[in-house]
Amino acid sequence: QGKLLSVRNLKRHFDLGKGKTLKAVDGISFDIFKGETFGLVGESGCGKSTAGRTIMGLYNATEGEVMFNGKNVHAAKGEEKNALIRSMQMIFQDPYASLNPRSTVFEIIAEPIQIHGLVTDKAELRNRVVELLESVGLNRDHANRYPHEFSGGQRQRIGIARALALDPDFIIADEPISALDVSVQASVVMLLQKLQKEKGLTYLFIAHDLSMVKYISSRIAVMYLGNMVELTTSENLYDNPLHPYTAALLSAIPIPDPDIEESRQRIILEGEIPSPINPPTGCVFHSRCPKAMPHCSQKVPIWTQYEEGHFVACHLYATN
Ligand code: SF4
Ligand code: MG
Repeated sequence: QGKLLSVRNLKRHFDLGKGKTLKAVDGISFDIFKGETFGLVGESGCGKSTAGRTIMGLYNATEGEVMFNGKNVHAAKGEEKNALIRSMQMIFQDPYASLNPRSTVFEIIAEPIQIHGLVTDKAELRNRVVELLESVGLNRDHANRYPHEFSGGQRQRIGIARALALDPDFIIADEPISALDVSVQASVVMLLQKLQKEKGLTYLFIAHDLSMVKYISSRIAVMYLGNMVELTTSENLYDNPLHPYTAALLSAIPIPDPDIEESRQRIILEGEIPSPINPPTGCVFHSRCPKAMPHCSQKVPIWTQYEEGHFVACHLYATN
């Protein structure tokens, strides 16, 4: 399996003025392999959306590097930059906000194709858009309608069709189902999986909890307050979570079997997530960690490979 994306010590800070800095993403490193679904999980405000946008090149990197197919995303210019834009696309959480209400579905999906000058012939463009609509379970009759005429699930399908318009290799899906009714969430996830198979897509799937990503991801990284705290395969994360924060997230997933559900220990984290403007010293999780030790507030835990492919940043697993 080849490496498609490589993220190294990526930081994205926002200068808020008056000497204040928001450390939204504060040094994350990981690789994504061709054809996999890589889950990125963490509570709201942990920096996962900012990470996604920085990886896409929508934000500059404050520090660190993103390599996509051997190309530096933040250094690319001209035609190399355009080629990267075509290869990397994004699906957003809110299909209502991300579709222009005054454009028809045809215009929404055709726009990126026209901007990149991929198809100029009108009839051919029409066919291409219909093809894209059909690939997401819509049809040619939908092309002349406006976003408000569709349900939430259908709007997300339009967003997916638009993301596919430039025939990308890689899609960042930023909480693509969290704004949808539970009843349509599974169908959108199944559509994404079908498209992945058909088109050989690689996904970075961002989510605020583990309930869905656990099933669809090959590997999962957990983020807390701008930092990555654990990364491993989905099965291993579920069977053998190392980081206390991962354990808490896992304990929050409801289990359908009432016998298991009742006997289960739910880990309730005390306190609020601290502000990324003034993050805690040492381990950023220490203020809420049930296993915190005295030195956790002093010393930053190093991102370490604990076992093959299983990374964690926690003093409980320090090898030195
Ligand atoms: Fe908890 Fe300490 Fe590990 Fe941080 S380093 S997660 S505070 S045990
Ligand atoms: Mg977000």
